[in-house]
Amino acid sequence: MERFDAIVLGAGISGMTAASVLRERGAQRVLLVDEYGHLGGNHVSLDIGPFTYDIGSFIFHDNSPLMRRFPELRDLYLPFDGQTGRLDFDGRLAQYPFDMRKDLLQVGPIELGRMLGSLVHGRLTCDPTRSAQDFVSYWLGERLARRTGLFSYLERFYGASPALIEGEFARKRMQWVSANASIRGQLKRLMKPRRLSNRAVVRPRGGFTELYEPVRASLGASGVQLRLGERIASLEPGKAGGLVLSTGAARYTAPAVYSTVPLDVAAQWCRLPPNPSVRYATLTSLFYSFRGTRTFPHHVLYNFSNAGRWKRLTMHSDCYGQADGREYFSVEIISDAQPDNADLLDADFRTHVRQNGFLRGDLVLEGTRKTASAYPIYLLGATAAAAGMITSLRALGVLSFGRQGGFDYQPTSHVSSVMAERAVMAFGN
Ligand SMILES: Cc1cc2nc3c(=O)[nH]c(=O)nc-3n(C[C@H](O)[C@H](O)[C@H](O)COP(=O)(O)OP(=O)(O)OC[C@H]3O[C@@H](n4cnc5c(N)ncnc54)[C@H](O)[C@@H]3O)c2cc1C
Repeated sequence: MERFDAIVLGAGISGMTAASVLRERGAQRVLLVDEYGHLGGNHVSLDIGPFTYDIGSFIFHDNSPLMRRFPELRDLYLPFDGQTGRLDFDGRLAQYPFDMRKDLLQVGPIELGRMLGSLVHGRLTCDPTRSAQDFVSYWLGERLARRTGLFSYLERFYGASPALIEGEFARKRMQWVSANASIRGQLKRLMKPRRLSNRAVVRPRGGFTELYEPVRASLGASGVQLRLGERIASLEPGKAGGLVLSTGAARYTAPAVYSTVPLDVAAQWCRLPPNPSVRYATLTSLFYSFRGTRTFPHHVLYNFSNAGRWKRLTMHSDCYGQADGREYFSVEIISDAQPDNADLLDADFRTHVRQNGFLRGDLVLEGTRKTASAYPIYLLGATAAAAGMITSLRALGVLSFGRQGGFDYQPTSHVSSVMAERAVMAFGN
């Protein structure tokens, strides 16, 4: 049995940040364990032939606490100055998330009047905390929300009607809606001090493994022990106090465990009952290469239209250059509620592309990948159910936090890193 001062489960953004904070706060022996064989959690790159794809996370900001803790990262990121766009409700290209000209100025006075009426109706009848549908209707009015395609996007995000999604999720995922649509939000923006640096950046050409290699070295040098790719069997109270983590290879003990893995996974290790309301989305990524005519200039394109299952398309070749004379990109689809078949999802994407004509030429599906637990699903009642599981884990001495462990839709890695710092510091006090 190896003894530690703290064990961190999951070596994603939250776990790497937590291990660094624990060392800084005096824990001498820290163990960082992950069933995944790499650092970065759901930051995953895949090499397929000459192309390097990512499954999801793509754009980062260089003022993140992670970069403050691991400054070596700064030199590896590449600057990103690409454009982000969206397909609106009827499949036309528009700015993301709002296009003032297309969504408001070009609609004509009659439609504008209707939108205003719908906004007043939303403000009077909707409770923005009740559901995602109410949140959006309250801030934008249902008519404008439908016109932008926001409801279609939300449904695509979860495979569920926005009326069944908690208002809490909408608040986290769509803060820009309330920030832009309220006078208080606009004032806050004007008064916010300018940050010294907040450059948008992307990972190096070689992928996330190359990016996080210095973090591995830095954690190791600071005394954190890493066990990656180690299957975890159980996490139980030890006879002499603390917790005992058993893997196929070894047993480790510590007075406190910091878990960033999905709640259902941690509960299973701790032999706690599962809660069916606590569910995570499964992400299918389709990886394409392409040669031909592309009609959109955007590096990242969101699908807010009424057709197609895909939700985001990321043009990797815009950042890293073409490979073998071909562009390459990945397409994200939440596949929980969809038939579990990449061929069908590929066919659906191709049909949509044909209808819209935004990629005309030779489109090749190079590979696919499924990721369980991409993000928490906030169907009504899920937050309360997750809070119950977090409390049960806490009673055992396990602090559960992060995007998966906290059942917390953290929209960016920056937020995950800030929240991990806060969680670990608060636990120690
Ligand atoms: C599709 C997508 C796109 C995103 N795009 C961006 C972006 O462009 N920019 C940005 O800043 N952020 C983006 N994010 C958010 C960002 O990736 C997260 O905020 C951050 O990675 C969360 O880190 P974490 O350590 O809390 O959790 P994660 O890295 O999600 O997971 C933590 C740990 O949980 C464990 N785990 C996960 N799934 C399982 C499983 N099924 N079984 C067992 N263990 C598991 C692993 O040990 C993992 O290390 C995106 C996220 C997704 C899913």
